[in-house]
Amino acid sequence: MSMAVSSTFEQAIAASASYNEQSRDSDTSRRVDEYFGEDVFNFETMRARLPKQVYRDLMRTVELGEPMSTEVANVVATAMKDWAVERGATHYAHWFQPLTGLTAEKHDALVTVDPGTGQMVYELSGTSLVQGEPDASSFPSGGLRATFEARGYTAWDATSPAFIVRGEGYGTLCIPTAFVSWTGEALDKKTPLLRSMDALSKQAMRILRIFGTDTGVTRVQTTLGAEQEYFLFDRNLYFARPDLVSCDRTLFGALPPKGQQLDDHYFGAIPPRVLSFMAEVERELYKLGVPVKTRHNEVAPGQYEIAPTFENANVACDHQMLLMETLKRIAPRFGLQCILHEKPLAGVNGSGKHNNWSMSTNTGVNLLDPQDETHTNMQFMVFLCAVIRAVDLHADLLRSSIASAANDHRLGANEAPPAIISIFLGDMLTDLIEQLEQGTPNRTIKAGKLDLGALSLPDLPRDPGDRNRTSPFAFTGNRFEFRAVGSSGTSAWPMAVLNVAVTESLEFLATELEQRVGAKPTRAGLEDAVKEVLRDVIKKHKRVVFNGDNYTEDWQNEAAARGLPNLKDSVDALPIVSSDKAKALFAKYNVLTEAEAESRANIFLEKYAKQVLIEAGQMVRIARTMIQPATLDHQTRLAGAVSATQAADVECDSIRSQLEAYVDLCERFGAASDALARALEGEEPEDVFEHAKHVRAEILPLMTNLRELADELERRTSADVWPLPVYADLMFIK
Ligand code: ADP
Ligand code: MG
Repeated sequence: MSMAVSSTFEQAIAASASYNEQSRDSDTSRRVDEYFGEDVFNFETMRARLPKQVYRDLMRTVELGEPMSTEVANVVATAMKDWAVERGATHYAHWFQPLTGLTAEKHDALVTVDPGTGQMVYELSGTSLVQGEPDASSFPSGGLRATFEARGYTAWDATSPAFIVRGEGYGTLCIPTAFVSWTGEALDKKTPLLRSMDALSKQAMRILRIFGTDTGVTRVQTTLGAEQEYFLFDRNLYFARPDLVSCDRTLFGALPPKGQQLDDHYFGAIPPRVLSFMAEVERELYKLGVPVKTRHNEVAPGQYEIAPTFENANVACDHQMLLMETLKRIAPRFGLQCILHEKPLAGVNGSGKHNNWSMSTNTGVNLLDPQDETHTNMQFMVFLCAVIRAVDLHADLLRSSIASAANDHRLGANEAPPAIISIFLGDMLTDLIEQLEQGTPNRTIKAGKLDLGALSLPDLPRDPGDRNRTSPFAFTGNRFEFRAVGSSGTSAWPMAVLNVAVTESLEFLATELEQRVGAKPTRAGLEDAVKEVLRDVIKKHKRVVFNGDNYTEDWQNEAAARGLPNLKDSVDALPIVSSDKAKALFAKYNVLTEAEAESRANIFLEKYAKQVLIEAGQMVRIARTMIQPATLDHQTRLAGAVSATQAADVECDSIRSQLEAYVDLCERFGAASDALARALEGEEPEDVFEHAKHVRAEILPLMTNLRELADELERRTSADVWPLPVYADLMFIK
């Protein structure tokens, strides 16, 4: 295969590959339990380094949200700076999650010239720790402020520890922050998450109080363990695909005869180069205090997964961002490129980020743990039914929270959860809610034992229900798994939406129960009230429960009959964020103001349109400057063969008709690229929603058509002139 890369370009790649290899850190001699979190200014380090009273004050901010005094901030800042400098940091950065996508950081040196002596001194003031002022005008605000009102602030999130990101010749102290406008509106994804966690805690505490299980509990935490799927491609091949470089996905590419049909990649042996990469990623993440646990091959060739142990959702979301950045940062050291896009390759599995979510007390009790005799565990049933009610009432908003141009390629395709949001409960819980609907539950379906039939093999304890990997939102034993979330975005936004939806149902249930039983309920009285309230909830909302195969067409019809929303793509789903229903929900729990909700709808729709337009522009560019020249070569070769053969007076009907068919295909391909180019030059509506609709209706179909023709050309053109590395090259890492 010849690739359309210049030799200087190839040299540049080779040089960067050897540079990258040098920066590997393959030291496996150190024990993880010794270096875990060594680059984190965590609470243990703070306790060791801060005066007792300062540490106590700081913890009051962290645990109870009390404001921090300037004196405390100054002491913490100095201790943090000393620690960071000892560990080789030269700069600090307020690290935040703007609405664009990943994270943003602006570095400032930890040194300053002392005006008195003219000497360099290390310094980090309390004010610089607590507050930063990046120029907000270049971040999307969705109309929240005019560009000339550029002020935006980052505010230290003391609940998520600072950490040092290091590489060759640099070490940066990263301080997790929220990002808000001058008028205090959230311009990021962390702020609504924090607000939603506070709101959920408040309502969940009311339920615990009713059951008398709140002793010693000050807060209910949202927990998150996010499994991350990703693709790895050889970096040289990656650079030879301008579509991957600029769009993170292939815009052209025919499936090879062997793709994922044999299902031989899933959990297969991990190629040594990839395994070395994974191990180094894990070492880096351990230093950063990210508790990664699981690694394996995924379904598509070239696709892998990494999953951490769950944590408090705010920290877990920050860690999730760090995890994605680390995957991308380390891959080049192994000559690899990590792609987090939801659908880098058409026709094989895409990538998700399965958000395992639960609620737990600050004393460590998981509120979604059904325990043994679940039918007697009324508190569990209340939390469970709150989730069922929330997902049914806000299925559209949950769908919206995971919508993006990239995830559109995945949701509803025959391998990822569909765009219809439903809940998988499994046999045991479905039986329980059915019993509750009828009256008093009196049994819990028990897990069995699996006899493997061979004496030497142990009997395995069997879960009471099977897994369902087709459901977008599945109960998995002691938590829910929101599987429809896309691989490339932050978990913070879908988690904030899930939290606020559940908060509303917790409040509803708490109020209903309090009205029935008063402040000091008897056990029997409480049980009756719970049964009465939940019976109603189940009747109204059980339509969202579906345990069957979500990939089938039958389910699409069945869901329509049940009246469940089916928002097929981002253009349908994104405007839900600013619907009256959603705005009321966000406002009620102070998660987003009306203006903040509207700005999000604007930003997300605008991003959708821009992303598709960039892809379309890139397609035209590749079609005209790479594919067409190659097909002309092939066409000339065929034509040469025909005329030479005819000149020799030999019949060549087969090559002749091949030439005719090929020329016809090339003509249609040329016309399709022109049509797309013209469409890109046409008028575009001003209004963001109209613009997104226009892009969906006018641009997407032309892209699909152009791609089909190109892929057909790929199948018919000499491999030696085809200008792009093909899927077979990309998919199988050697
Ligand atoms: P799967 O079989 O779904 O691929 P994994 O073991 O890869 O499971 O991932 C399961 C994830 O769920 C892990 O991140 C795990 O820590 C997380 N998890 C377990 N319990 C909870 C909980 N109570 N709250 C949130 N996440 C949890
Ligand atoms: Mg997994």
